[in-house]
Amino acid sequence: MLFEDLDIAEPLQRALTKEGYANPTPIQAEAIPHLLRGEDLLGIAQTGTGKTAAFVLPVLQRISEERRRTVPGAPRALVLAPTRELAAQIDESFGTYGQFLQFSHAAVFGGVSQEPQVKALSRGVEALVATPGRLLDLMEQGHIDLKGIEFFVLDEADRMLDMGFAKDVHRIVSALPKKRHSLFFAATMSREIGELAGRLLKDPVRVEV
Ligand code: AMP
Repeated sequence: MLFEDLDIAEPLQRALTKEGYANPTPIQAEAIPHLLRGEDLLGIAQTGTGKTAAFVLPVLQRISEERRRTVPGAPRALVLAPTRELAAQIDESFGTYGQFLQFSHAAVFGGVSQEPQVKALSRGVEALVATPGRLLDLMEQGHIDLKGIEFFVLDEADRMLDMGFAKDVHRIVSALPKKRHSLFFAATMSREIGELAGRLLKDPVRVEV
């Protein structure tokens, strides 16, 4: 299969070609069509399977299909990740795959100064990648408003639970609009992940590689 067969928009195809990616990985081939249709999804896939592009590409495509002026501190897509390394990596993927879309994105995570993050938010971003603690801090200080979120992604959901972020995740989710497109990825399926899916996702499709 080729990326072309997945109805990926031309500027994204161009970025993929530039990166030397012609064929979607199995998780991309399975997940992308559902996500482009706006379906909620639970993806079971390990790191190294190409799971990042499986959600970054559809987020880029859906957001850029209907462009709006960015509002300071109010992103349209939110990706939660358990660690700053992962958050930085996902943010970089938005830059790589969105390079021909002039897509605005930023990452916020703990362990570094808030100032550049606050500055980036005030310029307005279409997608925000965040770790839970720093996101909540910035929300409490009034730097982030999640009322305009259309797309919500929880990456490495199982690791998020293992790291004790369940309560933070629920606090963040309660600040999101009810009507939204949600998906999450976990490395393995478990009872906890099933329960989280039941609470956060609406009639999700499940894809597993
Ligand atoms: P991930 O599982 O998202 O951490 O991705 C693992 C690695 O696979 C990353 O270095 C990606 O850049 C790379 N990758 C993602 N999609 C593809 C693809 N379709 N073909 C080849 N490599 C890819």
